[in-house]
Amino acid sequence: MGLHMQVIIALLLGIKRNGHIFIGLLLGILVGFLFPQESYPRVYGILNFIATGFIYVIQMVVLPLVISAIIIGISNIGDSKQLAKLGTKMLLYYGIITVVAVCIASFIALALHPGLNAQSLINPDVIQNIQGSVAEAIQYQKENLVQIFLDLIPKNPFEALSNGKMIPIIVFVTIFSIALTRAGEISRPLVALFESVFAATMKVTDWIMYLAAPGIFALTATSVASFGVSVFNDISKYAIAIVLALGIQFFIVYPLMLKVFSKVPVGKLYAAISEAIMVAFGTASSSATLPLTITCCEKRGISNRVCSFVLPLGATLNMDGTAIVQTIAVIFLAQMYGIDLSPLLVFEIAFLAIIASSTSAGIPGAGLITIALVLNGIGLTPQQLVVGFSLLFTIERFVDMLRTICNVTSDAVVAAIIADNENELNYELLCGQTVENKA
Ligand code: ASP
Repeated sequence: MGLHMQVIIALLLGIKRNGHIFIGLLLGILVGFLFPQESYPRVYGILNFIATGFIYVIQMVVLPLVISAIIIGISNIGDSKQLAKLGTKMLLYYGIITVVAVCIASFIALALHPGLNAQSLINPDVIQNIQGSVAEAIQYQKENLVQIFLDLIPKNPFEALSNGKMIPIIVFVTIFSIALTRAGEISRPLVALFESVFAATMKVTDWIMYLAAPGIFALTATSVASFGVSVFNDISKYAIAIVLALGIQFFIVYPLMLKVFSKVPVGKLYAAISEAIMVAFGTASSSATLPLTITCCEKRGISNRVCSFVLPLGATLNMDGTAIVQTIAVIFLAQMYGIDLSPLLVFEIAFLAIIASSTSAGIPGAGLITIALVLNGIGLTPQQLVVGFSLLFTIERFVDMLRTICNVTSDAVVAAIIADNENELNYELLCGQTVENKA
């Protein structure tokens, strides 16, 4: 049986196990189509209330979970040699996945030419609406390129915490955790405290999953209700290029990575994380999905040591799905405006997409803000950029939901590979029958 068939069957099996969430997702699509936002604002209002409530509830556990997971992860690894080894491996695998991603994206965008003749699709109303915000975002990125990198340093960790700025928080907690391990025995009580925090947040995550079916239903319904179907006809070539590239990444690249670097059976892994995949699709947020990604991976045999180190860092740093979208989107705009795409320019776009994507937070829409960093390189006028953005915005939510699936799946793929390499993957759990909640 072909690899892609195995993956699809495994996903369906996984989905069967989480049937209620999957049904929620399908119903959400149906209700979204039947009750478009403009015609049924009341229905939309109710659905939006449920969807937002669900996102808030998951976000509630993200900070305590990320902080406790990293502290436990790093202190479990112990000595600095081990940490450096694991850290290097993690960056290497995340790096390979993202480089392959932008290569595929460039190839597909150059082969399909989604931007040719796209100028006729421009809708003046949309341009009017977003003009201000786009100009502001682009100006900010231009003027604050250095500041963007400086902002990664947690100048005031408490300010970063209260504003939920994930990247500086992770930088701070990582440094703090390394220091804790260096401090030796005296830090043990603090680590024990965070072990309790971790255990409790995992329990809360289990409870939250009882809300997953209505939550995913409402999230999907609101997304479909607000973007409608007609826009797909307008921008179909761009959408096809994105779906194709993300599909290749999901169905070919990850399975190949698993095959080349480990003996993890791809179908089993995908089935194990299917719940996280559906939540990633519904929430369009890697950070919000993180508690679930950790739960799925741990329950299915990936060690806590690997999960708590690799997954939280991956949820903020590893954004290969975002890099794919940014590369295709920028090449799309360049083609639309007839900019000569020399090999060097394509390389520059792909390179900037790697940087821009990894500075994107794991929240909805983050990738379409940092894309300004990539766009700066291709020499479009501000007016052209505004028009370009107006096109990208038309299907942004849908594209965001899809790219987040890749962002989340690749984190789990890298965690599984590292766990396999380190002999920390319990194959019986991964390949066995469903493991029941410990509750
Ligand atoms: N929504 C994506 C994520 O959370 C980030 C992005 O906007 O590309 O992974």
